[in-house]
Amino acid sequence: MSDSLFTKIINREIPADILYENDYVIAFLDINPNSPGHSLVVPKVEAEDILSSSDESLLEVMKVVKKIAPTIVESVGAQGFNLIANTKPAAGQVVMHTHFHIIPRFENDGLKHWPHIESTSEQRADLAKQIVEKL
Ligand code: 5GP
Repeated sequence: MSDSLFTKIINREIPADILYENDYVIAFLDINPNSPGHSLVVPKVEAEDILSSSDESLLEVMKVVKKIAPTIVESVGAQGFNLIANTKPAAGQVVMHTHFHIIPRFENDGLKHWPHIESTSEQRADLAKQIVEKL
């Protein structure tokens, strides 16, 4: 299997604006940001998505998110951030190497959250029952 784009960044075969790196994780600015400071936090062990990354790998990623997100937010003058892991192409995942987006958010920045769908209390109860039975 050939190296992913992000493994190439880890190996310095492709340049990136690296913010932080340790033995397990690298973080760098997204090349096509949704907001100033939009960053990607990536485990060094290559896996297709969060479902195939190890728990240990994801724990290391979350430690780095907690470490760097406040500084990113402060550096761009934001007031919050969204933490997103697009998982599978249907959810918009393009780079098949586990990563989390840190997207700084500004009060009144106009970005809208997901639209809501109709759901009745019966539908939600049925769905919850189905899921609980499978877990
Ligand atoms: P996904 O849609 O897979 O969750 O997000 C992949 C992200 O990787 C996108 O936001 C895209 O802008 C970013 N990206 C793609 N190619 C490069 C690159 O070569 N360098 C950097 N820094 N980011 C990239």
